[in-house]
Amino acid sequence: MPSYDPQNIFAKILRDELPCYKVYEDDKVFAFLDIMPRAPGHTLVLPKSPARNVLDVDPDDLAAVSKVAQKIAKAAMTVFNADGITVQQFNEGAGGQVVFHLHVHVIPRKAGVAMKPAASEKEKPEVLAGHAAKLAAALKG
Ligand code: AMP
Repeated sequence: MPSYDPQNIFAKILRDELPCYKVYEDDKVFAFLDIMPRAPGHTLVLPKSPARNVLDVDPDDLAAVSKVAQKIAKAAMTVFNADGITVQQFNEGAGGQVVFHLHVHVIPRKAGVAMKPAASEKEKPEVLAGHAAKLAAALKG
């Protein structure tokens, strides 16, 4: 497996070199909205420590990410009036991974509504900002 590349786009977001629509942060975990959401509220949950994917992540960081993914899933059910949640996580190109800093997708779902194809359409900035603010507020409350 190739080594971790500190120039990957999520590493730049974590270093605040690129903007994001932040949803949650603690000492180990950072979460922000996917800019090409497969459904409204599609959130990415990352460890702050460098890890390419599930194959090299520290197990404690993976546990911390999982706990936050669950918190976000529960909050998203209410905020996005969802009927369910899809959780996805891809490893290496053959496993569907495109950005090589570990991330878990938390995707609110409505009954009978298919997810958009991955990375198919950029959402409007004002929509993403509104969704991030609502989800962040629910997670604080
Ligand atoms: P994957 O590595 O296959 O799990 O997918 C990477 C995900 O990152 C895709 O869902 C993209 O829409 C998303 N993405 C790519 N660039 C950005 C970005 N700058 N901010 C937020 N999400 C992004």
